[in-house]
Amino acid sequence: AALYGSRVNSAGVEFGHAEELSRLMDDLKKAGLPTAPARAIVGGEARPGTRREIVSPIDGRTVAGVVEDADEATADVAMAAAKAGFSAWAATPAATRAEAIRKASDLLEARRGLFLNLLQVEAGKTLDDAVADLREAVDFCRYYARQAERLFGEGTVMPGPTGEENRLVLRGRGPFVAISPWNFPLAIFLGQVTAALVAGNSVVAKPAEQTPVIAFEAVKLLHEAGVPRSALHYVPGDGRIGARLVAHPAVAGVVFTGSTEVARIINRTLAAKEGPIVPLIAETGGINAMIVDATALPEQVADDVVTSAFRSAGQRCSALRLMCVQEDVADRMIEMVVGAARELKVGDPRDPSVHVGPVIDAEAKEKLEAHIKAMKESARTHLATPGPTPGTYVGPHVFELAGPSDLKEEIFGPILHVVRYKANRLDDVIAAIDATGYGLTLGIHSRIEDTVARIVARLETGNVYVNRNIIGAVVGTQPFGGHGLSGTGPKAGGPHYLLRFATEQTVTINT
Ligand code: NAP
Repeated sequence: AALYGSRVNSAGVEFGHAEELSRLMDDLKKAGLPTAPARAIVGGEARPGTRREIVSPIDGRTVAGVVEDADEATADVAMAAAKAGFSAWAATPAATRAEAIRKASDLLEARRGLFLNLLQVEAGKTLDDAVADLREAVDFCRYYARQAERLFGEGTVMPGPTGEENRLVLRGRGPFVAISPWNFPLAIFLGQVTAALVAGNSVVAKPAEQTPVIAFEAVKLLHEAGVPRSALHYVPGDGRIGARLVAHPAVAGVVFTGSTEVARIINRTLAAKEGPIVPLIAETGGINAMIVDATALPEQVADDVVTSAFRSAGQRCSALRLMCVQEDVADRMIEMVVGAARELKVGDPRDPSVHVGPVIDAEAKEKLEAHIKAMKESARTHLATPGPTPGTYVGPHVFELAGPSDLKEEIFGPILHVVRYKANRLDDVIAAIDATGYGLTLGIHSRIEDTVARIVARLETGNVYVNRNIIGAVVGTQPFGGHGLSGTGPKAGGPHYLLRFATEQTVTINT
């Protein structure tokens, strides 16, 4: 119990409770959007860069904020500053570091209006998705603060002979580069940054180019909460800035969440470096499947499939991409899934009755539309929902493929692929899921315990969900992360996460 802690997660919002909802709406209205540009912050100093407006995916017009993208010189200065700031922060007691991170979580809750507005306007999230992102961010802060106090205090006294004291101590590694995606622009950004910080590392954080404003606000909040300006630096920019940071000689570790392709590029850069071997913590994508057999409950399957495939417009790394359904019940299951998906409202995510907001930008929409076009030509179309304009909307789609191997890559949007399998060919389905090389999330809908056990034993998928949806891992309860092409581990929101951000030192004293 000491290792895994008790379950203390942030409070949600009861959307059906009129008073609670109206308090939330008031907070949103009062907070508005930030007006100052998001500039690089290095050693507490703002550094100007190339101005860019962040236009909301909601309508392609509303400006969420302005960023000034950093250049390579700023990236280098930030790395040098993180190197200079490391030792003082590493020497700060773990309890003090944890206190600052905990204070940040309280500030996040107190200023929820601003962060929720940005999650909606900058990232296009529905209100419940925005609340979920903020809650996860708060949970990460509190969870990692608790874990740091457990792991990084005085160290662990090891058993040894009389006359000798042996102690195992964890310490920060040095300057960490944190590179995050746009799809959880607060939770993942802060999860990476606070884990690295609380473990005693200094950090240079580069958010995704689509969502730099919310990251800027989060960094200012961490500084205000007590994280020294010498320990945390913020560098907005595109992938080239990320690449520059990773290549810097001072880098002691990289924590990355995003595509498998970019994780590979970073890995290659780190491997080619002179000097110490630099660890990479990478959390990447997946071709996530759900196996549905003839004993599954159709209403529950429909509900869970629709939630897993279409919530957040399918822009979750955990989202369902491939439903494998037993042939005997396939027609009925597909009909129910399509029926439930038709009920989803697609549109402006600020409207509380909307279920599916926009995809992140025009490039994402174009990519999805190209896939839809290819599917319409090669697969059977069960559902094709157009997205409204203006804004970058893609409605829910359901395509039936001849076999699981027809889906060759992660499709990051509200597009579900379905395949049928014969009851005596379940092993082929399991082998095909295994053959994707990914292993992030997996769903199983079956009432047969042996079937569930057989599938779980055969697949190394990081997070397996049985008879429920496959998204929304809860910090401290469902440690999250995958294997193979889906990432290196350790699991975010789990008890072993901070260990990878640390070095271990054994001190033996002859007493
Ligand atoms: P991405 O294109 O890989 O970008 C991720 C981050 O890497 C961004 O900040 C990006 O900057 C930066 N980057 C790009 N090229 C780089 C380079 N050469 N060197 C260093 N940094 C570089 O991913 P995305 O489109 O933002 O996010 C979607 C992906 O993330 C999906 O594959 C999804 O499955 C995955 N994801 C995984 C998890 C998980 O926990 N496993 C969670 C969420 C998302 P720019 O924004 O400027 O390009």
